Order: sequence, then structure tokens, then C-alpha cells
Amino acid sequence: MTRRPLVAGNWKMNGLLRQLTELEAIGAAAAEAGPGIEMLICPPATLVSATSGLLFGKAATGGQDCHAEASGAHTGDISAEMLADVGATYVIVGHSERRSDHAESDETVQAKAKAAWRARLAAIVCVGETRAEHEAGETLDVLGRQLRQSLPEGVTGANTVVAYEPVWAIGTGLTPTGEDIVEAHDFIRKTLAERFGTDVAEAVRILYGGSVKPGNAGEILGMRNVDGALVGGASLKAQDFVAICRACP
Ligand code: PEP
Repeated sequence: MTRRPLVAGNWKMNGLLRQLTELEAIGAAAAEAGPGIEMLICPPATLVSATSGLLFGKAATGGQDCHAEASGAHTGDISAEMLADVGATYVIVGHSERRSDHAESDETVQAKAKAAWRARLAAIVCVGETRAEHEAGETLDVLGRQLRQSLPEGVTGANTVVAYEPVWAIGTGLTPTGEDIVEAHDFIRKTLAERFGTDVAEAVRILYGGSVKPGNAGEILGMRNVDGALVGGASLKAQDFVAICRACP
């Protein structure tokens, strides 16, 4: 099974209209790279519409979060339908910053993944252990629990991407050893196979996220069962993001 590599940029709470100039280079690089790799930018909600317009036909646009409901009295929230309405095709759910800043549980993340599917968005479901869990040797236990509780029934290669993001590696410049990354990704693939069957597990892309930079992208993206990257800080500069995309094998 060949999985098309996906490199997703998560701009987090960064980006004003003037930063949209970065998208020109990203769109050009995506057009040049052709269909062999998929590029995705997840800007803040205020820029989703403009981003999807600028990247249309070249790279994908995604949201960083969505509410589980389609509409209603939820001040400040955005629904998956609203993201789809302005051109998004993906949404990140369960990012560790949402889990910690907004106390999102695995059950909430699962409801958001279902909401993404309802709006025909693919859900990028983030999982990953904290530093304390890593140091206690609990990584696979944590991943197993998060996968079990955050993923709804009905996962397919088209509707879901799993992002393995060790919390302690996000924005710190630290990355797990290659062995640790491969162990986690192999475990995620095996866990998906046990629950959804081998065909689905082989089709779902598993991204690595946590301090991916142009300097380490080639090594990480070449690892077994690593089907791309979820990139935070280094996605803010088109030059760095494009360099990471070009490092895909
Ligand atoms: C992220 O926020 O998903 C992330 C991986 O951030 P960074 O690349 O900055 O570590």
C-alpha cells in the first residue's frame, strides 16, 4: 500500500493578513511537487477562507479545531461545517494544546472527529505522551488509550490521519530517538489494524509532529511508518516549510 505523504503546517495562534504572502511560495512548491506529496496549511480560523482561496488547486487548507456541534449557542467556537464552507478539507482535533489549554478529553476529541466526518472533512487526530509519561516508560500505554478513546468507529484512510506528537517535543527543539519514533508509529499502525482491520490500518497516514525542521526532516520522514509531518513553528516561514516538504522520500 502506497500512502501519499502529507506535510501539514499548523500555524497555531499566529498569522495576520500580511503573512498570507508566505502562501505564494507554498502554492508554487506544491504545484511543482505534483501529486506525489500533499501539502496542507492550517492557519488560524480568521485566515482559513483566504488561505483556501490562495492555495486552491495546489495545496489543502485545514482548521486547527472544531466544535462537535454543527451550529448553535457556542460563543467563539467554529464548527466543522463552517470550515468546510470556506474551503477547508481537513481539521486537526485533539492537539495537545487543546487538550491542555481547554481540558479536552479523549471523548471530546472523538466527538470532534465525528463532527469533522459529518462535514466531510478529514480529521487529523493527535495523540502523544507527556514528558513525565515518556520518562516513566508509559508512551505506548498512553497512545493505546488515546487511540482507543479518541478514534470513532468508522475510521478509513480517507477520513482520518493520526498525528503522533510527543507533548515534550512540541516547540522545544527536542525530538525522540529514531527508535522511539519507529516504535510509536509501528504501535499505532498495529493498534489501528487490531481495531479497524489491516486494509484500513495500511491506508491511514501516520504523521510525526514535534520540532520537525529542515535539518531533521529527511531523517524523520524516511522512517518506517512515518507518512509525513505535522509542523508547527517551522511552518510559519514558507522557505522552511517547503524545505521540509522537499525532504519527503
Ligand atoms: C505542533 O504544534 O503540532 C508542532 C509539532 O509544533 P512544533 O513543530 O513547533 O514542535
